[in-house]
Amino acid sequence: MALILSDAMLRTAIEQSFNAVVVTTSQLELPGPQIVYVNQAFCNMTGYTAEELMGKTPRILQGPRTDPETIERLRRCLNAGEYFIGNTVNYRKDGECYYVEWNITPIRDGQGRITHFVSVQRDLTEKKKVENDRNLMANALEANSDQVLMTDREGHIVYVNRAFEDQTGYRREEIIGQTPSLLRSGHHDHAFYDEMWHTLASGQPFRATFVNRAKDGSEFHLEQTVTPVRDDFGEITHYMSTGKDISDRVRMEQTLRRMATIDLLTGLPNRSFGEQLLEREWHRQARYQEGLSLIMADIDHFKSINDEHGHDAGDQVLAQVGKQLQALVRRTDSAIRWGGEEFLILVPRANLEQAIELAERIRLGIRCQHHPGVGRVTMSFGVACYQPDDSRKSLLRRADQTLYAAKEAGRDRVMASPDTD
Ligand code: GH3
Ligand code: MG
Ligand code: MG
Repeated sequence: MALILSDAMLRTAIEQSFNAVVVTTSQLELPGPQIVYVNQAFCNMTGYTAEELMGKTPRILQGPRTDPETIERLRRCLNAGEYFIGNTVNYRKDGECYYVEWNITPIRDGQGRITHFVSVQRDLTEKKKVENDRNLMANALEANSDQVLMTDREGHIVYVNRAFEDQTGYRREEIIGQTPSLLRSGHHDHAFYDEMWHTLASGQPFRATFVNRAKDGSEFHLEQTVTPVRDDFGEITHYMSTGKDISDRVRMEQTLRRMATIDLLTGLPNRSFGEQLLEREWHRQARYQEGLSLIMADIDHFKSINDEHGHDAGDQVLAQVGKQLQALVRRTDSAIRWGGEEFLILVPRANLEQAIELAERIRLGIRCQHHPGVGRVTMSFGVACYQPDDSRKSLLRRADQTLYAAKEAGRDRVMASPDTD
């Protein structure tokens, strides 16, 4: 059975409603509708007392930030006798503004004429504030020059910022829903990712330098922090990763490291790096006894090339000889710029015959090369093979002495150390 509400019950319900209620006359022409009823919530929202509002037009609540378009739409709706819903800014008695949502319904008499309007209003200020705070956060993430990427708990990407798009070349439409494994470069092993997940699962942030791959295949270095994000109940719901692109710094470091080990003119390892390479081969030989030979090579009469054609032409010849040596030795061999026009070639896993063969091949390769403006050059070679009682010094000395012997014997030749195996 339907309950018939008495006027008193309705009045109480409206009076106690949390929503603000205002009833006005239907007079739309200036000075506008007059307020004939307000509830307590309306007074609380506007800061006026009911007495102050009676007989006034609701326009007293409008101000500079009240949206004229919304007011115009409201006027048209009310003129047409239609229901209106909209929101804008209004002003309290103390001048402070608030966001308000209006629901306005015309009330008609027995003949269908509109006599009043009932407006139920909601203060949206708090809601708007939360929304604004959220927008502010989103804008801050967006404007961050570091990459920001967020995944859900399962690792699906739910957000990337502009810097991420710019630096990886992926647009957010194509990467949302994917997993960050798309960015893997192959530089990190399972243990690396295991450690990351282990750290995150324990609720700790994971910090590391990641090498990632951009969409175009290029690699970039990121100083990255991955942090678990928890909800109000303490459950991990997302992971947020922020990364600073340090590729330029890494490239610079690589260049510096290269410059410290590589001879710029020839592109070959320099002497100090060459000594490290020899030490490595020495230990390998001590352990595996697979054989180790050295070839000491020196350009013949190089001084006269400089004297006749100039120092720059001499440099050109050195660069070309360096290139040839690099090309003529095996990948496991090392050609080192040992001195001015002197080169040391490390030949691991080779006996004396094999090293002589290689030296001979190099000799022929070098003497066949035409150097523009200079002509042909020749080189002399001294070959020595590791002996059980050798030190690095003694082996190097034998190679050097044999080279000297080759020079003495007329140059453009390969000679082997007399201490053969
Ligand atoms: P040999 O056949 O006995 O080896 O005679 P050589 O003239 O090659 O030997 P020497 O040691 O008398 O001269 C080597 C020359 O190499 C002297 C030096 O000025 C030149 N040289 C060393 N390093 C460089 C370099 O980087 N660039 C140029 N252009 N010349 C260099
Ligand atoms: Mg020389
Ligand atoms: Mg020399």
